[in-house]
Amino acid sequence: NAFWVEHIEKGKIYLSPSEAKHLKVLRAKTGDLLTGLDGKGNIYRFQLENIGKRETTGRLLSVEHVNRNEQKLIVLVATTKWPRLRLVMEKAVELGIDRIELFNSKHSVARASKDKSDKFISVMREASKQCLNPYLPELQIIDSADKIALNNATNFLLDFYGKPFQSFSSKIATSRSVRILVGPEGGFSKNELELFQRFSSVVSLGKRILRVETAVIVSVSFVSLLMGR
Ligand code: SAM
Repeated sequence: NAFWVEHIEKGKIYLSPSEAKHLKVLRAKTGDLLTGLDGKGNIYRFQLENIGKRETTGRLLSVEHVNRNEQKLIVLVATTKWPRLRLVMEKAVELGIDRIELFNSKHSVARASKDKSDKFISVMREASKQCLNPYLPELQIIDSADKIALNNATNFLLDFYGKPFQSFSSKIATSRSVRILVGPEGGFSKNELELFQRFSSVVSLGKRILRVETAVIVSVSFVSLLMGR
């Protein structure tokens, strides 16, 4: 487990205020050697100096910078209800996604809006800390299909009637960016499908109808492993 670093000044690490509670739950003590992340590729080692309501600090011991993945992995997922959406976001981060595009599909049973971004980012941050992901994935909330720049990646539209996803392994391995598109409980609308299909290969994950979160977990795991994450 790692802790979220807010800023660093003269060799001193300032943790995000919410981390004081987290440290207390874990019974951390002054002098403990801990790991910090900032979501921008840096992994910090530090010694805990102070746990306080106003500030929680540590002495910086070392920093390792990890380069961004050259290949990009994006999941576009139709917005669904909490806590199902929470599971989608948490697992997508754990499995190595670079960007989540939350799409308010015509058939979505819930809608995401920018004022919920903090809640979503906090879930993504907790997942990054848990799995030691040095980069906080990007989050984009999208209201209509025509606002998605579909030509910036190799797109795979998940649909029961598509070709087996595994038959695209070499295409995935050689693509600079891969986007996986996952529909809502009621499936994408006719218009959304028409637009998405023009820019995508339609792929299947097997003969059963999977729930949104299962489809995200299976498809992202598959691509992530092929990308060597
Ligand atoms: N009744 C919906 C339909 O006909 O599309 C089922 C939607 S399913 C619960 C939610 C989404 O998961 C689908 O839109 C699709 O993107 C994906 N999905 C579920 N099972 C799949 C499978 N076996 N193969 C490919 N995609 C699947």
